[in-house]
Amino acid sequence: MRGVAAGGQTTLQDQVTVAGIGVHSGAPATLTLHPAEADTGIVFLRCGSEGQPDRELTADFRSVTATEFATVLGDANGPAVSTTEHVMAALHALGVDNAVVEVDGPEVPIMDGSAAPFVAAIDQAGIATLPASRRYIQVLKPVRVAKGDSFGELRPHLRGLRIETEIEFDHPLIGRQSFAVDVEPDLFRRELARARTFGFMRDVTKLWSAGYALGASFENTVVIAENRVLNPEGLRFADEFVRHKAVDAIGDIALSGAPLLGAYRSVRGGHKLNHAVLTALMADRSAWTYVDMAEARRPRGHVELATGFASPAYGPDVS
Ligand SMILES: [Zn+2]
Repeated sequence: MRGVAAGGQTTLQDQVTVAGIGVHSGAPATLTLHPAEADTGIVFLRCGSEGQPDRELTADFRSVTATEFATVLGDANGPAVSTTEHVMAALHALGVDNAVVEVDGPEVPIMDGSAAPFVAAIDQAGIATLPASRRYIQVLKPVRVAKGDSFGELRPHLRGLRIETEIEFDHPLIGRQSFAVDVEPDLFRRELARARTFGFMRDVTKLWSAGYALGASFENTVVIAENRVLNPEGLRFADEFVRHKAVDAIGDIALSGAPLLGAYRSVRGGHKLNHAVLTALMADRSAWTYVDMAEARRPRGHVELATGFASPAYGPDVS
């Protein structure tokens, strides 16, 4: 179904480490992906806080403590690990059910701003099948959340996780873009993983004064000025922006705690909306059910590019 395993749960064959800086904190961090037993799920292990014990955080929507410009996991003691979405997207899209994500700083390293370095790390470690069946969360009825001009919806979709993302920025380089995809490993590698974080030059001062984007640079962020991309290498995809939003959505929806059989549509959304829709789904016990893998059908990876969504402009966002 997802990844290499048709029926069973998976984990990594080996551990693998990447290092970099946090895009918001600017703090250096090392991230190590470790294999984990069946039914562990994805667990973040925040270590390296001086004088503090290591903290374990289940990668679950209930652990989300903030969604401003990134998805932050924490607990009653406060936030623990920020910017979890890109590594979560890579783990989920490649079909890794169980792993411990050890991070020795306040934020997952941003690497090049995309999910590709995490895909490469997972590929380097390899994926192993575990002798345990995989359980899915099947969406049974649509659940929708609207906030101002943006809305998000999860609806039934039996082939796996489908992501439909639409963005609209009042900027000549972006305008309206949409991207829809049934999430599948090879397709994620090819079409989504390399899409980078982006931000607007006009927002930089405001972001910095609020303590965000302190580690942002051309090395890890597509920086958009009045009418052009400032990065010397340009864009990786003409619609890299909406593709990155799709990566963020996959990473955020992966906080369901089990792979979702459902379609998620996000219109002018971001981390806050993704979290709100997932929370609304899980709160409505009549809107979903657990199913084992035998009942799920194999998703067929394909991309649909759609245009023509009419809607009012949406303000700046960095994700
Ligand atoms: Zn992102």
